[in-house]
Amino acid sequence: MEPVSAPQVVGRFAPSPTGPLHHGSLVAALGSYALARRARGRWLMRIEDIDTPRVVPGMADRMLRTLEALGFEWDGPVLWQSACNDRYAAALDQLAAAGLIYPCGCSRRELQRVASAPLAADGGLIYPGTCRKGLAPGKRARAFRVRVDDAAVEFVDAIFGPQRERLAEGSGDFVLRRADGLFAYQLAVVVDDAASGVNQVVRGADLLPSTPRQIYLQQRLGYQTPAYAHLPLVTDRDGGKLSKRDAAVSIADGRDLVREGAALLVAALRFLGQQPPADLARAANRDVLAWACASFDLDRVSTRAAPFGLSAAPAT
Ligand code: GLU
Repeated sequence: MEPVSAPQVVGRFAPSPTGPLHHGSLVAALGSYALARRARGRWLMRIEDIDTPRVVPGMADRMLRTLEALGFEWDGPVLWQSACNDRYAAALDQLAAAGLIYPCGCSRRELQRVASAPLAADGGLIYPGTCRKGLAPGKRARAFRVRVDDAAVEFVDAIFGPQRERLAEGSGDFVLRRADGLFAYQLAVVVDDAASGVNQVVRGADLLPSTPRQIYLQQRLGYQTPAYAHLPLVTDRDGGKLSKRDAAVSIADGRDLVREGAALLVAALRFLGQQPPADLARAANRDVLAWACASFDLDRVSTRAAPFGLSAAPAT
């Protein structure tokens, strides 16, 4: 009998060029890279630059140069989301043809005013379904939403374990095309991962609450659902959420990343619960990455958010 070979792992790193690479993005880059390479898989680079009002000019190139200086090597050309609008439109059409899309005339202010509108796990509003049965007279279509149903979306995260959410309670019908005409992140990420054959998504735990919505879209579009591993969040020194200002501090600032990158990479490995040998912090960046690709152990990664430490002491 022919041996059945598992499909090759395809991972990716998908930063938004809205601010420089910070410790959280370094952790996501390294975790996704090590897990893809450990499985002898491919690792793709995608610049998520569709949210054009938030894109900082020149930032994407700066990110790519930083990653290169650290020794990361991605497979194939960089994919730029801003060049992929046609395929997001086609996916939206496919969902519309299935009767799943409707126009919504609610402004954010109106939604915030609905006293019963609670907050979703990611802080967004849970849509109360105002325009589900059609736009009220005098309202014009602003955004386009996808209808969700009562079924629970379930998946097992490789780090956070079994997850379950009823989208009706978790987000309500969510936006796929925004009032400014731009395609929403939730749609773009699903379409791009499927188009690139990504079957392993490793990213920060801030995106864990988005995953049920993304799986719902994959199911409605007939795509495969990738394996998910969400990495612990990097917090500020006091354990709080990284402020915009903290997150705006680039890992590249004031550092010669070719010479000093190893210490940074080793610190990121320790943040992820790994135990690289102490002298690796003085090795070449590529040696640290090679160690990560050979030795990264998913079982050592915790779910606990923590500050990022550059000290030599292993994280406890
Ligand atoms: N572009 C997103 C970010 O920078 C990541 C998207 C993803 O990994 O799915 O937070």
